[in-house]
Amino acid sequence: MTSLAHHPVLITGGAGYIGSHAMLALLDNGREAVVVDDLSTGRRGAVPAGVPFYEGKIADNALIGRIIREHGCRAVMHFAGSIVVPESVEKPLEYYQNNVAGSAALLRACLDNGIERFVFSSTAAVYDGAGDKPVSEDGVLAPANPYGRSKLMTEWMLRDIAAATDLRVAVLRYFNVAGADGAGRSGQYAKAATHLIKRACQTVLGQHPRMDIFGDDYHTPDGTCMRDYIHVSDLAQAHLAVLDHIGERAEYVTMNCGYGHGYSVTQVLDVVDQVAGEMLDAEPMRRRHGPRRAGDAASLVADTGRIRQILNWQPKYDDLAVMAATALAWEKKLMDGLD
Ligand code: UDP
Repeated sequence: MTSLAHHPVLITGGAGYIGSHAMLALLDNGREAVVVDDLSTGRRGAVPAGVPFYEGKIADNALIGRIIREHGCRAVMHFAGSIVVPESVEKPLEYYQNNVAGSAALLRACLDNGIERFVFSSTAAVYDGAGDKPVSEDGVLAPANPYGRSKLMTEWMLRDIAAATDLRVAVLRYFNVAGADGAGRSGQYAKAATHLIKRACQTVLGQHPRMDIFGDDYHTPDGTCMRDYIHVSDLAQAHLAVLDHIGERAEYVTMNCGYGHGYSVTQVLDVVDQVAGEMLDAEPMRRRHGPRRAGDAASLVADTGRIRQILNWQPKYDDLAVMAATALAWEKKLMDGLD
């Protein structure tokens, strides 16, 4: 297995939310990165000068092949993809095209050009989300929406490829990623983001009149959905650790990425209110209880035994208030004008 010391890691979606944090983690650890991103939701400014950047699609075989060869990449972290659950319900074919067909094309270019390690952004949405216990990697796979199915199909493709070739693969199943870089270098950029913490931060900053709570009749303690929120910088660190792990030990590994405890929508909004009150003297947001959102599972909380044991992963930001504070600081920065 080639040491990655002099081989930059190719990051697809490196101008996006999670990809840019993984890129920063690589750079902070003295590694090199090359980014390809179609800028559909990413931000060019998220990629620092000095990091080679290519605007393009993962499905562009010739482009990806050329980048890998020119930079001598041996590893890929694959973040590029469509990620919004309700949108996937409305536009399923776009999700299968972008996430499944796009990944297949990317993998073709990887296999043809000497890539040895591949880390894939998967999701907790591959689980059925029916139980109220933390779910392990062996939990029931029954995605509730096209987004989750597109990720699971890609996982299956990767498992088969890992079995048939020398490619070593890590599949990371993210729970709910939140927060922003502590130094303010990156954060969730897409203005139309639908995710709970970002949306709540925009609301306390006055960008939306109120916060809609999607369903309060779930079989959960307060009736709203439970999720396991993980800080994006802890998640980024897990990518570095798993890249080394598959280089040294495993050929194929799947890991949950969460902290192992769930918070309800109401609890999250309470924390954002509290943090916004302290940081900005903001009024509590207005809330409106509405119907369930299509494709939502009641509860998704990670069993984190595997990642903690295998990677000796020790998260630093396991605190909803830290996630809310960094997300809010980033959102304020966006509002004040970034570029
Ligand atoms: N949610 C909500 N109002 C919003 C956005 C999200 O009530 O404006 C709820 C959503 O129904 C889900 C939880 O917050 O139960 C987390 O949703 P998000 O879109 O952040 O992530 P997902 O779990 O869908 O990946």
